[in-house]
Amino acid sequence: MNKYDYLIVGSGLFGAVFAYRAGKAGKRCLVIDKRSHAGGNVYCENVEGINVHKYGAHIFHTSDKEVWDFVNGLVPFNRYTNCPVAKAPDGKLYNLPFNMNTFYQMWGVTTPEEARAKIEEQKSGFAARLRAEGANGPRNLEEQAISLIGRDIYEKLIKGYTEKQWGRPCTELPAFIIKRLPVRFIYDNNYFNDPFQGIPVGGYNRLIQSLLDGTEVRTGTDFFSDREHWESLADNIVFTGKIDEFYGYKFGRLEYRTVRFETETLDTPNRQGNAVVNYTSREVPWTRIIEHKHFESFGADVYANPKTVISKEYPVEWEEGMEPFYPVNDVRNNALYERYHALAQTEGHVLFGGRLAEYKYYDMDAVIGKALRTEIK
Ligand code: FAD
Ligand code: UDP
Repeated sequence: MNKYDYLIVGSGLFGAVFAYRAGKAGKRCLVIDKRSHAGGNVYCENVEGINVHKYGAHIFHTSDKEVWDFVNGLVPFNRYTNCPVAKAPDGKLYNLPFNMNTFYQMWGVTTPEEARAKIEEQKSGFAARLRAEGANGPRNLEEQAISLIGRDIYEKLIKGYTEKQWGRPCTELPAFIIKRLPVRFIYDNNYFNDPFQGIPVGGYNRLIQSLLDGTEVRTGTDFFSDREHWESLADNIVFTGKIDEFYGYKFGRLEYRTVRFETETLDTPNRQGNAVVNYTSREVPWTRIIEHKHFESFGADVYANPKTVISKEYPVEWEEGMEPFYPVNDVRNNALYERYHALAQTEGHVLFGGRLAEYKYYDMDAVIGKALRTEIK
């Protein structure tokens, strides 16, 4: 009999939620992670009393009541509501997501009818062009964006940001990426439509600690450093790393985008007045600046700490040694992933879960939902 029922490779949300459930079901689990800490991408570092989202801003939002109840059962969530603003190439600030405030700032329109008319006017010729080209609907991100919101917003708020973020022209990106953002004909700057949203009180590390409480965790441990040894320890494996790496890249490498962070502590209590400011101009090299304290302090509390911490985000193409953050779900990569996925389905005792193992642009709630609904043997 092996020492463990489950070896869980990766202590991100998929691995941690699975470990929590398996532990409750009486299974013996070992979690390993190659990073020096648990938590995967939601891990935070405390700097000057501020929880700094070390792997990029993480805002929890969901429509999945079961997921919301599950996480709130472990740690309470605060009232943070994401309302980013975008600094455009014209130097002006616009509210996001695209809503009546944005339309007013862009065109001076004040009623939903005026806004709809303006958008219709911007996309009328475009729809005819698509039809003439025999397209059934938008074939890429550019066509999707213009069909949804018109050319002005596409040019000022989407094109530059998206091309920096993905390092590819909008005409070569999948349409679904832009459908993540709501378009609304009401004055509402909430970035998400989900009914539940917030940040764990005390930060994400508390959530991870609650999930992994009582489970054996070894950090600084790479599965591939001694694969045979780790595999020999357990009856089953839950793998949350890169699926192409699991198979020794035998069909070729999947591509990822990643982000380089430039984080600074400043001697001022409130640098930008908001957690997230996007920079949509191609000329500005970063995509956004995060001011971390605004995730957890509100109103006068902001000034209780005389310092602040900001991070500038510079998207780059992933190379070996960097953190693979975003799967690039274009046609080539999706086809390659399908080949690995077909192999994965033939495995009897290895389960693949999470953003990297499933090569999907999952948000946290989707990853938690999947881990909650995965069968434990
Ligand atoms: P991860 O968190 O990546 O965990 C995988 C773990 O496996 C890592 O700790 C890694 O070190 C470990 N690992 C990999 N290979 C090995 C190996 N060989 N040996 C040992 N360990 C290994 N979601 C939201 O809902 N809201 C947001 O605002 C949001 N913002 C995001 C911003 C950025 C910049 C990024 C990159 C993601 C964001 N997400 C957001 C998505 C969110 O991070 C993921 O959905 C979630 O954290 C994925 O969890 P996971 O367990 O699949 O993967
Ligand atoms: N996007 C944009 N302008 C913005 C913000 C987002 O064009 O100011 C586009 C961009 O293509 C991005 C996508 O919308 O990749 C999804 O944005 P989201 O904020 O969901 O990205 P994430 O939080 O995953 O980085």
